[in-house]
Amino acid sequence: MNDTPSTNASASAPVESKELTAFADLVSLCKRRGFIFPSSEIYGGIGSCWDYGPLGVELKLNLKEAWWREMTNRDDVEGVDASILMHPRVWEASGHVEGFVDPLIDCKNCKSRFRADKLDPEFLKKNQCPECEKFGTLTEPRQFNLMFKTHMGPLEDSSALVYLRPETAQGIFVNFENVQQTARQKVPFGIAQIGKAFRNEITPGNFIFRTREFEQMEMQFFVKPGTDMEWFEKWKQMRVDWHYGIGLRAKKLRFHQHGPGELAHYAKAAFDVEYEFPIGWQEIEGIHNRSDFDLRRHQEFSSKKLEYFDEAAKEKYLPYVIETSVGCDRVLLATLCDAYRLEGERTVLKLHPKLAPYKVAVFPLMKKPELLEMTDKVYADVKKHYRATYDESGTIGKRYRRQDEIGTPFCVTIDYDGVPNNTVTIRERDGMTQERISADKLVSYIHDKMANWKPV
Ligand code: ATP
Repeated sequence: MNDTPSTNASASAPVESKELTAFADLVSLCKRRGFIFPSSEIYGGIGSCWDYGPLGVELKLNLKEAWWREMTNRDDVEGVDASILMHPRVWEASGHVEGFVDPLIDCKNCKSRFRADKLDPEFLKKNQCPECEKFGTLTEPRQFNLMFKTHMGPLEDSSALVYLRPETAQGIFVNFENVQQTARQKVPFGIAQIGKAFRNEITPGNFIFRTREFEQMEMQFFVKPGTDMEWFEKWKQMRVDWHYGIGLRAKKLRFHQHGPGELAHYAKAAFDVEYEFPIGWQEIEGIHNRSDFDLRRHQEFSSKKLEYFDEAAKEKYLPYVIETSVGCDRVLLATLCDAYRLEGERTVLKLHPKLAPYKVAVFPLMKKPELLEMTDKVYADVKKHYRATYDESGTIGKRYRRQDEIGTPFCVTIDYDGVPNNTVTIRERDGMTQERISADKLVSYIHDKMANWKPV
């Protein structure tokens, strides 16, 4: 492996590139390098709650930014940020009070809990617990509502009952008319929102794959009935293209169509975008044709007319809704799994540069005043354009390793050869090639490389 700065473009000898096979390696990297920590760790943690550290929060912001830009750079999508606590009638209208349930099974022996719909039918048939393997210990499934409840104000009686929202979508539906009128939008148009959602999941786990508190990025697109399936197909394609655009490899993505037994109560058609995690193919995003279910129910429960008047056609109707709903934490997990590689002695995150927490790391070859003056200048220039970091400790090889492990796409070294002619060595993360370029061209060089980046 050639890791010392050189004046010529050079590549290291090929080494075997191993992908992630178990979450455990990623969990440990995330803890070690400050991406994700167990919540309340000094108290022993709390089930399936996680905190994003300095690098995790940057990665998450970059992901949200990529989604938000994609959605709101369109003239026909507006944004909102609705409150988490909503009128309790919202959740009656949406069907969540009655129907947001999972079938829960307990083992009377070892007290393990399972979701009946996710349990291997063989165990159910034999009434055997998959954990303790005892027979005859499983209870009958009982319906468990996943909404977290709390009370608003000082009284803890039923009149003060409110829910932590289990999805961000309802904050969009109840604002349909506000947004349409204030933004002077005409159907078809959409409303996008990023925000926290809460579900009292029976079986959370697999790191941040299924948690009880998570962030959703949802967009509801309101269309004229009859045009809904056409829009549904368009959004399906646009959404999978977005996943390619953040660097997820095509071979790790697929669509899963919901069959009649799987369709949610509100859905006319539904597809999941699935990613192949180390635990197998799993949903990362849902694309749903929700018909006029939500607006119709809110109209009924609130007694407020939510019909849209189409000026051109001179007709009134309740729009249909195409929903795209992606879990921010879950897609962040997919980007980490996809990027993780073990290559000889280095662990590297081959993240899309636009997602990488730092775009550039700047190093002086040695801590010598002759080098530090130019290094400070280069670092200050780069920081005006990109999130960057500085490192002067250890060998250059060690410094490259530290940056590889957190996905920094470019490392810039200032050495003795470069000071007289104002040049630096830039080393690229994925191919480990090194080039000497003029320090004045650094920003445009990085810009071009980032714009043309392709997953390996
Ligand atoms: P699942 O079948 O995995 O429970 P879902 O079909 O209930 O998911 P949706 O209600 O369609 O999920 O939510 C949209 C997206 O929100 C999902 O594709 C997923 O990315 C994310 N999501 C849902 N539940 C969780 C959770 N408990 N933890 C993290 N992300 C979640």
